[in-house]
Amino acid sequence: MSFTPALFVGHGTPMNAVETNRYTTAWSEVAVSFPKPRAIVAISAHWYVNQTAVTSMARPRVIHDFLGFPQELFAFDYPVVGSPDLARRVADLVQPDVVALDDESWGIDHGTWSVLAHMYPQADVPVVQLAIDATRPLDYHLEIGAKLAPLMSEDVLILASGNVVHNLRQIAWDGEHRGYDWAQRFDDDAHYLMTNNPAHLGELRASDDYDLAVPTADHFLPLAYIAGIAAVANATVSTFARGCTMGSLSMTSYHVGNAGLEASFNLPREVRPGV
Ligand code: ZN
Repeated sequence: MSFTPALFVGHGTPMNAVETNRYTTAWSEVAVSFPKPRAIVAISAHWYVNQTAVTSMARPRVIHDFLGFPQELFAFDYPVVGSPDLARRVADLVQPDVVALDDESWGIDHGTWSVLAHMYPQADVPVVQLAIDATRPLDYHLEIGAKLAPLMSEDVLILASGNVVHNLRQIAWDGEHRGYDWAQRFDDDAHYLMTNNPAHLGELRASDDYDLAVPTADHFLPLAYIAGIAAVANATVSTFARGCTMGSLSMTSYHVGNAGLEASFNLPREVRPGV
């Protein structure tokens, strides 16, 4: 059976849509490490509302949901189509939890298109976005993620986009390419749980660094969906990008796949299987 991985991407600033750096290169490279999926369910930190919903329009609009960035970014287009069928499939999978079908209010926001611009620059894979219900506890998001796991064997990529550490008040705008000690420490703690016991991601709330790393849950919660998938699929979790930048942003990105696939496509390039 073919098996599409699920990904969490640390997306950083919207400028990553139009820049090339070691993180955006990693996004491009991970996309060609597995067959192109037939569709994508994108869980973006930037659709953080008071219910779970999924975009169900055939032609989602491109949303430029930021201020103070260059005109180039406001003009950026990612003309991808939607998938009403996949939206209905998502709603079926999560029952009895309710997912509203949104055919008019949202679309594709920069949490999604800034990453997909590197992964699938032709915008040739249909996308639905899943909203994050801000009123629900962490366990709910783990559970919804787990319910989406069957899509991995339906040729659908689940792409969660946020940042494990995301504190805009603490950002070092002077080009600092590392994380503060507390940011790095929290990112490492998250890495330990993701790779050893993703079902227990909630233990991070007890960290002394939690309030600084996660001042609001919007960018952290997309990780819970991928942790939920990893836990229910008993899958192998690895990173395809790792590190902090600008002091208070983690760019660490996770790949959830099965062991067989890992062996065939996730080795460093210079290493051959069996060597
Ligand atoms: Zn963001």
